[in-house]
Amino acid sequence: MTTQTGYSICSICDIGCQLRTESEDGRVTRIIAHDNPLLAKNICFKGVAAPSIHNAPDRLRVPLKRVGERGENRWQEISYEQAMDEIAERLKKVVSEYGPEGMAVSTSGWNTQTTQAADRRFMNLLGAPNWISGVSLCAGNTAAINRLTYGWFPMGDFQNTNCIVLFGHNPKKHSWTPIYNMIEAARARGAKVIVLDPRVSEQAEVADVHLRLRSGTDAAMCLGWLKVIFDEGLHDKKFVAKWCTGFDELKARVDEYPLERVSAITGVDQALIVEAARLYATADGAIIPWTPITDMQISSTSAIRLHSILRAVTGNLDVVGGETLGGFNPDMIPESELALHDVLSDEQKAKQLGYEKHPAYTYRVAEMLKAPTEKVWGYPYADIVMGCHMANPSEVFRAMAYEDPYPIKAFFALGNNALMSYPNQHQIHKAMLNQDLIVAHELFMTPTAMMADYVLPGDAFSERNHIADTWSWTTRLGLSQKLAEPPEQASNSYQFWRDLAVRFGFEEWFPWSTHDEVLDYRLSRSGRSFSDFEAQGFMEIPPVRYRKYRKTGFATPSGKVELSSSVLGDLGFDPLPYFRPGPATSEEFPYLVFNGVREDPFFQTGQRNIKELRDRCPVPRIFMHPDDAKREALTDGEWIELQTAYGAVSAELSVQPNMKTGHVRVPHGWWYPEATDTETLAGAFLSSDAVLCSDDDELLDYEQGVPHFKGFPGRVVKTIKPEAIGAA
Ligand code: SF4
Repeated sequence: MTTQTGYSICSICDIGCQLRTESEDGRVTRIIAHDNPLLAKNICFKGVAAPSIHNAPDRLRVPLKRVGERGENRWQEISYEQAMDEIAERLKKVVSEYGPEGMAVSTSGWNTQTTQAADRRFMNLLGAPNWISGVSLCAGNTAAINRLTYGWFPMGDFQNTNCIVLFGHNPKKHSWTPIYNMIEAARARGAKVIVLDPRVSEQAEVADVHLRLRSGTDAAMCLGWLKVIFDEGLHDKKFVAKWCTGFDELKARVDEYPLERVSAITGVDQALIVEAARLYATADGAIIPWTPITDMQISSTSAIRLHSILRAVTGNLDVVGGETLGGFNPDMIPESELALHDVLSDEQKAKQLGYEKHPAYTYRVAEMLKAPTEKVWGYPYADIVMGCHMANPSEVFRAMAYEDPYPIKAFFALGNNALMSYPNQHQIHKAMLNQDLIVAHELFMTPTAMMADYVLPGDAFSERNHIADTWSWTTRLGLSQKLAEPPEQASNSYQFWRDLAVRFGFEEWFPWSTHDEVLDYRLSRSGRSFSDFEAQGFMEIPPVRYRKYRKTGFATPSGKVELSSSVLGDLGFDPLPYFRPGPATSEEFPYLVFNGVREDPFFQTGQRNIKELRDRCPVPRIFMHPDDAKREALTDGEWIELQTAYGAVSAELSVQPNMKTGHVRVPHGWWYPEATDTETLAGAFLSSDAVLCSDDDELLDYEQGVPHFKGFPGRVVKTIKPEAIGAA
């Protein structure tokens, strides 16, 4: 028996803990904590469940070709070579009929990990601009919007900070575990924590200040904080005078938001707003870590920009205890270079969907930031968290469904249950029904994969080597070692794109025939190979340098922090941040609904098929305050239907005193792998929050086109547990 132990970067959720994996005879047997005491707490029960996931009996093992109607879930097993040959032929046909813009790719780097920008590289060589990802409404869009203000996406210095501000974010022992551990450590040495959340979340329970703002009002709250900070002169006047543009215009905008107005919008007492703003501004080292809440609101661009502006005007940018602008790791060739963005012509870039109407994270803005990005960071494009030159998902699905403004007829989903990962699931379903070719690449069958023509098995994190570079968000490099064998016909996502590229005649652009060879190439800039890296340690973190802007300026058109954004202004948008309300409640739809609040056992739409995790949360639960439940004559544990003007979700009611009255929380990403019916696509149309929200242009954030998932009107009625759901 061969027993091995090595380091792994867990890819079950998006936080990427480094763990240790044990295997016997090429099969993963156990996941254990890190042997470095500083990292040993970074493990949750999802990570521990990895052997059950990687060895699951329902794991996809061979390529499947559809033989029934689309979505019927009837398949023929074929070889990998046959699958790739047929996919290439069918994609060539689509490209010859509709042009390369007739292809779209939706992927989640969190899940695949090993793409190494090969998807963008292939698409750019082909001339295909329509790449979308879940990061368009989760972290990737935050990265893109941060760049508008100071040219990079910062990371909070948890180790040295004196104040942490959590906008709805609720890291727990088993969700975003490393962030939870860093908050706990900071709190233990005296750092203050401010939580802004309609719920009394776990973080709110122990916060120094808790502001129970109405869902979807983050931008108004930030404007209120700035009002306090400017009125009381708490901003860093020297930094603002020397390094910021647009202060007077910003101040005039902030004056439009007196505290009476902010209090009326957010539902939070003025005194509490003042207390929180003062605490943040005077902390001498404060951070506003990334939050998935601000990413998904109708004023998301303004709210994200306001976080950036708060960091800058309070002097917390690129300082100890504040937020660090990392840049690229000099020892590793970044995905930004591998992606070959310069190869895609201007004409094809301009065809990227979203380019005209919602350009903030498309190639249009990437081109505007190209020169300053190269000047400051050394590369013209910055693919931070993969999210800076994407198409707009809603426009892509419209083009797939209605062929407007042009047809998209081939759709690739890799590590991404696309059907349930964006707003307006009904439109996405219609879009998929209108495709000539759909390819899915997954560990397990999903509702999206059920809609495909070909389903290819992917590999899991214990089954390949990897070096995780946090997608250039930070400069940390983490080792992940191959300790188990993937299923015989499984491929990693790099291999998939490389094998497709070869069939398109792009072999010379893909000289690395395996994923291991790409890793060697990426490390070649430091004169090393993967084996060298592996021999040298488990993680590398270059020394942090602060206030780098003093030498280089900021990577914005002005070289300064743009409180008034020249890019947004040049695009015809309001260059200053503002608050725009979401759709209002009414007699018919009296509750403010928000989705999210991560369920610890799951990441996004995954893991419902893993018994040891599903047992922890067998069914979806909708949260309501006891007063609201009483008004609706509903009791804890009964099944209810949450209805909006666009769709309905069935789930069990959980009456929770920690909810804010008038608010309803719906969980994200529920389907039922045990459901055998194909009518609901394994329950994808029973409990998925993606059916609830519209993506009509007027209901999207103007600049990015992200949906408003945090505060839309809904109502609840009694229902019965859907029959399709299993005994779980
Ligand atoms: S928090 Fe859990 S699931 Fe996420 S990366 Fe860490 S161990 Fe894996």
